Amino acid sequence: MEVAIAKGTVYEALRAGGMSRRAFLQACAAIGAALALPPGSGRAIAQALTRTPRPSVIWLSFQECTGCTESLSRAHAPTLESLIFDMISLDYHHTLQAAAGAAAEEARREAMAANHGRYILIVDGSLPVGQPAYSTIAGISNLAMLQEAAAGAAAVIAVGSCAAFGGLPGAAPNPTGAVPISAVVRNRPLVTLPGCPPIGAVIAGTLAHFLTFGRLPECDPLGRPRVFYGETIHDRCYRRPFYDRGLFADTFDDEGARQGWCLYKLGCKGPTTYNACATLKWNGGVSFPIQSGHGCLGCSQPDFWDGGGFYRAAALPFGPLTGTAGIAAAAGLATGTAMAVANRKKRAAAKRAHQPITVADLEKSPGAQP
Ligand code: SF4
Repeated sequence: MEVAIAKGTVYEALRAGGMSRRAFLQACAAIGAALALPPGSGRAIAQALTRTPRPSVIWLSFQECTGCTESLSRAHAPTLESLIFDMISLDYHHTLQAAAGAAAEEARREAMAANHGRYILIVDGSLPVGQPAYSTIAGISNLAMLQEAAAGAAAVIAVGSCAAFGGLPGAAPNPTGAVPISAVVRNRPLVTLPGCPPIGAVIAGTLAHFLTFGRLPECDPLGRPRVFYGETIHDRCYRRPFYDRGLFADTFDDEGARQGWCLYKLGCKGPTTYNACATLKWNGGVSFPIQSGHGCLGCSQPDFWDGGGFYRAAALPFGPLTGTAGIAAAAGLATGTAMAVANRKKRAAAKRAHQPITVADLEKSPGAQP
């Protein structure tokens, strides 16, 4: 069987696909912007990608809903997400590959053998370790397939909240004993990109970082890249001025909702949720849930589902700021404000501790050498 083995550099692959040099430079500038790199970094990224071999990518899907793949592949215009598919050699993906059954598994093993120690492993979905037979592919348990694939990977990317934290399959009572892939992958560079689903540009940006620098981006204690998960939704929310002025929608169809006021009283979890929705947004930067009138569900946090995220009127303490309900509302607002202050302090401390990447650093980068 013929297997697509990664050949040539990223630049060669893009040019062979019909991309002009001008479009390539524009794409590199877009990557630099997505990674929050300084102006002028696009040229340095372009230099790195002309030296970087096009990597093989193995994508495994376990207990998941395919939303993560949809998030990355639904681009209907030449975006960073669609561009990434040209930069990599996607050698195995259940949903996107043409091969099926034994032929697909043979192709996966051949691609892994041909690129041992150099391929990137992407995983979406959680692992059923309580009862491995609950989820198998070609008769192979998810656990066995992950252990085999991780052993030869240069880096592992856990895509989506299921792979990152267990997600919906891991919610109580967790009948399959679902665990995040970090419970099994311990001796390989690992990054987690939670979200239900994660933003396509976050997946693409993380891959682009690896291609450009030859390493995964700097992460927080939960393994999330700081460049995308370093701030809360609340930190960058366009409704924040209303929060600061104490202007809140009390129902989804009151005058406050029509005026676009803060959704905190309607259960918005923006103050405790770290993600880039408020800045990168969705559907090519068109909108994000809060802009559509619904509070943040906190889908990129470890307690998503069991911690709650949906509007539950009975659980909301808010109403007129009087009596017991008023005291509860005031306590809730005070908690939110205290969290915002704490987050601001954390950000300032992180900035002091973290030296930003400069163009000079980029020019020194050897590019990925998988
Ligand atoms: S509570 Fe929600 S809607 Fe209000 S400012 Fe914060 S993130 Fe935006």
